[in-house]
Amino acid sequence: MSLIPKSHPRAKSLLIREKLVEGFDNGLVAKEGLLAQGRGEAFDYLLGEKTGKAAKQAIKAAAAQLLVAKLPVISVNGNIAALCPKQIVKLSKQIKAKLEVNLFYTNEKRKLSIIKTLKKNGASEILGSKTTSSKKLPGIDSARRIVDKNGIFVADVVVVPLEDGDRTMALRKAGKIVITFDLNPLSRTSQTADITIVDNVTRAIDLLIIELKKLSKKNQKSLQKIVDNFDNKKNLRENVIQIKNNLDRRAKIA
Ligand code: ATP
Ligand code: MG
Repeated sequence: MSLIPKSHPRAKSLLIREKLVEGFDNGLVAKEGLLAQGRGEAFDYLLGEKTGKAAKQAIKAAAAQLLVAKLPVISVNGNIAALCPKQIVKLSKQIKAKLEVNLFYTNEKRKLSIIKTLKKNGASEILGSKTTSSKKLPGIDSARRIVDKNGIFVADVVVVPLEDGDRTMALRKAGKIVITFDLNPLSRTSQTADITIVDNVTRAIDLLIIELKKLSKKNQKSLQKIVDNFDNKKNLRENVIQIKNNLDRRAKIA
């Protein structure tokens, strides 16, 4: 890893970038994953590189939704495995969710590297490899519709961080409740998901883990109320307004 001085104004962002480059060198991340990170970084810049009020509300709704879920599944891709493998395994244990490696740019070798990384970080069972059984989601082209028979296929709630819009739409069409992390409030995934956490997954995932701990004391009825009171479209608008306000402020001082 190259040396990034702590005093660098973009030190955190550069460290995240380094993790992805390392993930790419280790066969976890696809080339396209590096580009996706670039798109995310641009939105992070516009959001002020911090977790906003709207994101905090979405995190709370996501935590409540996960606590009322019957069969939650977390979909893991290369970027997530490179950015926050420890946290994703911790999250899966906390809510008893299955982990499924599910790649947009599918590749068996990369899948195995991701599985190895998750295992190294404490995961026991990981679905989505050749050795587990697959099923096809309707309404999506062939390679991208494969899901695990015992995972996403039967899940009621699916967490899909950094996901493509087509797959998110297919999951919704298949009747899944979709929670995503996506820095771009305008992406099709953000617009299609039930709960979109517009924040960098590297910041938001720790906050989700904390929120889950807090809400775990609540009963199912009050958790469901939190979910029912959450309006994703409204939340996305608030994120766009946050970007607009940041730009307005900069327009005055630039
Ligand atoms: P869509 O297909 O949903 O319209 P897209 O084609 O613009 O989106 P994809 O590459 O399909 O983009 O999806 C990756 C998404 O992940 C992007 O919206 C990007 O902003 C987001 N993203 C990238 N890195 C991060 C990160 N570290 N944290 C949160 N979101 C991220
Ligand atoms: Mg896309």
